[in-house]
Amino acid sequence: MAGHRLVDQIKEVVDLVDLVSETVRLKRSGRRYSGLCPFHAEKTPSFFVDPDKQLFYCFGCGTGGDVIAFVMKHRGLDFHEAVRYLAERYNIPLEAGSGDPNRAGEKEELYKLIEEAQAFYHGLLFYDRRGKEAHEYLRKRGVPEKLAKEEKLGYAPDEWDALLNHFRRKGFDPEKGIKAGLFVKSSGGRIYDRFRRRLIFPIRDTKGRVVAFGGRSLDGTEPKYLNSPETPIYNKGSLLYQYDRARKALDSLTSGNRFVFLVEGYMDALAFHRVGEFRVVATLGTAFTGRHARLLKRMVDEVVLVYDGDSAGRKAMMRIFPFLLKEQIRASCVLLPEGLDPDDYFRSHNREDFEALFRRRIELGSFVLEEHIRDWDGTTEGKIAVVRELHEFLKDLDDPIILRDYVRKISEGLQVPEDAILFQFKKWSKRRGNSQKLASDKYPAEKGKTTPVYSPEEELIRLVVKNPWVIGEFRDQIREALSCASPALIEVARAVVDAAVQGDGELDVQGVYEKLSTDAAKSALSRIVVDDNPYYDKEMALMACADLIKACKKRGSEIEKSRLKDKLIEANRQGDVETIKVLLKELQALEACEMSIRGGRERI
Ligand SMILES: [Zn+2]
Repeated sequence: MAGHRLVDQIKEVVDLVDLVSETVRLKRSGRRYSGLCPFHAEKTPSFFVDPDKQLFYCFGCGTGGDVIAFVMKHRGLDFHEAVRYLAERYNIPLEAGSGDPNRAGEKEELYKLIEEAQAFYHGLLFYDRRGKEAHEYLRKRGVPEKLAKEEKLGYAPDEWDALLNHFRRKGFDPEKGIKAGLFVKSSGGRIYDRFRRRLIFPIRDTKGRVVAFGGRSLDGTEPKYLNSPETPIYNKGSLLYQYDRARKALDSLTSGNRFVFLVEGYMDALAFHRVGEFRVVATLGTAFTGRHARLLKRMVDEVVLVYDGDSAGRKAMMRIFPFLLKEQIRASCVLLPEGLDPDDYFRSHNREDFEALFRRRIELGSFVLEEHIRDWDGTTEGKIAVVRELHEFLKDLDDPIILRDYVRKISEGLQVPEDAILFQFKKWSKRRGNSQKLASDKYPAEKGKTTPVYSPEEELIRLVVKNPWVIGEFRDQIREALSCASPALIEVARAVVDAAVQGDGELDVQGVYEKLSTDAAKSALSRIVVDDNPYYDKEMALMACADLIKACKKRGSEIEKSRLKDKLIEANRQGDVETIKVLLKELQALEACEMSIRGGRERI
């Protein structure tokens, strides 16, 4: 029953922070959340949740894992029961798990096709004369070549079968290309390229894999932007353009506000990249959804909307407000000069200009209220209409302090007593069976810091998890250094090192977690991931890595030495001279080896 697909779906839908919040009052601190552990009695929080990696760990009692592990421990269920419980609670059909076992294989195939298409389009843009038109367009829009190459932008030529022929030459099945959203089949059965005469923007999923494309028309053909259709690997409602890069930028932040800019289009997002700001994501020509809001909530404390400086842009920002409010994400908006979108703006203004606008950003709720109040026509009927509209926006708000604040603003703007507004709100809410919940203080009063102590082996794995690129320098030494760790750590180390090698310096932590077979290993990984102390700079990480390898080896040889000494005592007792000789030799070799470890980095 609990097939991989079902587990995948559960993890896609269920947010660990939300689930844990039902029983633990979590407070955000930096990248993670902390609270009082539900599995042991404590007064200062040592229970942590990593919203991005979706893992939890308690430094007090050592319990840790993913969303399924949490339900297992919290409800006393076994794995299958926990999966069933979550599936039922979140309306995920159980049959999902018993479905086609080739599904994962199919997805892999689609990733490959998309990757091939990306390489093809990218090659056309930069290394084919047909790409000249798109090249020219980029130049006019002020997109530097470096950025275009980083983003692997591409060009789909003005032909019906450019990609199709390329696929045929490569021996790919065009039907699969249809499934990947690259080709379209006419009612007459003819297959042709979906993207023609368009600038191509690769769209990556949260893990950074290219899953779809957006195509900007270059000859005025409508639609201006054409996107890939939904496919087994591309779900518009749960993807944001540039999410993976924004997350990386936020991951490398050591302090400061955790916010992200939300914009409407590809070019707007790239405009931010142009001025060196990577904390930006864009909706993909679709409506903003609750899932988008939850994705953002995992990553930041505040979402800053930067939409077009016209009435359409302002309306679009207002539509997003209820979704962010419902997820209790702090939101604000930057108002651009009339008629400019972010891309226009950055062509006529510099980063300092924008910083000034940013500092004057308006809290999104206040913005929504002001916009509505401004529309009031001065009549009494108009007043009621505005209050009713605002109730639609605010009906899910369950923070009484913020609600009071908004009501006060409405009261001032429309000259209606606050009590009257609250009375109306309550009446409307009751009518739809949605009575205002009164939120309690969500956060524990105490602020506690837990600094875990690590063995050198654990510390070394932690370093690799946070800086997977070190694997390029130290791969074999790391493997060797970790060979004496506990079985659970060896399992974790193996999975982490393999994944880091495969990921070419990147690490898919959730993928590593899935590969682990024992609870001890899963818990060990959670502990390592959830801890927040990063190695800030590259040089420091390299030095620490070399030192830790040394420390691990030293510990390994100490363990080995005491094992040999035990054997020696036993051999002595039995008067086994031959064995004693062999053991003494081994001991000597070990000591020589230790000397060289102490000797310095170059001799390891
Ligand atoms: Zn605990």
